[in-house]
Amino acid sequence: MNDDKKTLVVLGSTGSIGTQTLDVARMHGYGIAALSAHTNYELAEKQAREFRPETVCMTDEAAYKELKVRLADTDIKVTYGKETLCETAAIPCDMVINAVVGMVGLEPTLAALNARNRVGLANKETLVTGGELVKAAEKANGTDIVPIDSEHSAIFQSLMGNSGNKIEKIILTASGGPFFGYNKEKMKTVTMEQALHHPNWNMGRKITTDSATLMNKGLELIEAVRLFDVMPEQVEVVVHRQSILHSAVEYEDGAVIGQLGVPDMKIPIQFAVTYPKRLPSCSKKLSLFDVGTMTFERADEETFVCLAEARKAIAKGGTAPTILNSANEAAVAAFLGGKIPFYRIGELVSGCCAKLRHTDKVTLQTISEADAAARADVMSAI
Ligand code: NDP
Ligand code: MG
Repeated sequence: MNDDKKTLVVLGSTGSIGTQTLDVARMHGYGIAALSAHTNYELAEKQAREFRPETVCMTDEAAYKELKVRLADTDIKVTYGKETLCETAAIPCDMVINAVVGMVGLEPTLAALNARNRVGLANKETLVTGGELVKAAEKANGTDIVPIDSEHSAIFQSLMGNSGNKIEKIILTASGGPFFGYNKEKMKTVTMEQALHHPNWNMGRKITTDSATLMNKGLELIEAVRLFDVMPEQVEVVVHRQSILHSAVEYEDGAVIGQLGVPDMKIPIQFAVTYPKRLPSCSKKLSLFDVGTMTFERADEETFVCLAEARKAIAKGGTAPTILNSANEAAVAAFLGGKIPFYRIGELVSGCCAKLRHTDKVTLQTISEADAAARADVMSAI
């Protein structure tokens, strides 16, 4: 593979991770074979004109129609739909970056792996709902998934050169979000504006909300179990307000290896693409003198119930993580749509997880059934 001439497929190119992936591609002169977006046809048009992919797949019908007209003067193919999103993920390339939000990312991930494409995975919901299927597809096709989520990239990097030594523990760091230190009463006063203002990271609205409820850390705990084949009890969540240590691995001898850096997603995005090599980047370098102090605290799982629910879901296994994830997707959409206050997200997720029964068998069919049941349950409780 020629490092100067990588070709990427970017799913979710109009989002926070998608646009930063294109920044990395621009910097290193990577080719873009295909892009996908949902509603943002204006940005998709701009990206298509700059990067000249063969295909742009839109998953929202109105946006697809608009983009088709706008790109009529080019030879870029504009396609529509969930199935074509899977076909887009299967276009031969050096890496598919999956940066769509939500469990809609699962089938394109499987399609990419089944086409023997390597996958740079930002879309954590994929691993939470269909982790077993994804890992099986990775193995069966002899290709690999490189995590982009900053914590998992840090763990991945901390495992490099490990030569088969046993992992004692994964230290999964969490910023704590904007409401760290709040109690249940104070959480009732939280506004949408406060919830969407993350102290350290600039991200899409769904993950920013998840970071505020700590569901993001719950999803990441499950993501770590899936990716690194550890038991849930081996993952220790540590609140580290400065987001400088991005996560670490403790080995049997007590050595702890971690990865540090400024909080900038371009670093793990670029590393996923260049792995195992490293290239210069446009990201700021870390100054430990500027950081000064790094702190480590426990998360309050009584207030941040979503994290506790995620632990329970992965302990149950089967489709329980899908129920958790889908309940959360529905509750967060209701919050972002102004239908429920912030504190109701945790209540709705807990209620749904307690009520719905999971099944041990994980297939696309059982995932789809669990997904539908969880969404219906949350909608009926709103
Ligand atoms: P954004 O909301 O910024 O972007 C989401 C992307 O997915 C957009 O391109 C959007 O299209 C597209 N999209 C939305 N809904 C659908 C759908 N139903 N079908 C297909 N595509 C859809 O999200 P982020 O970039 O913040 O996050 C993407 C993923 O990466 C998430 O799983 C998140 O948890 C994970 N992640 C993000 C981090 C970050 O820093 N942002 C850090 C670590 C992980 P459009 O805009 O055109 O509607
Ligand atoms: Mg993360």
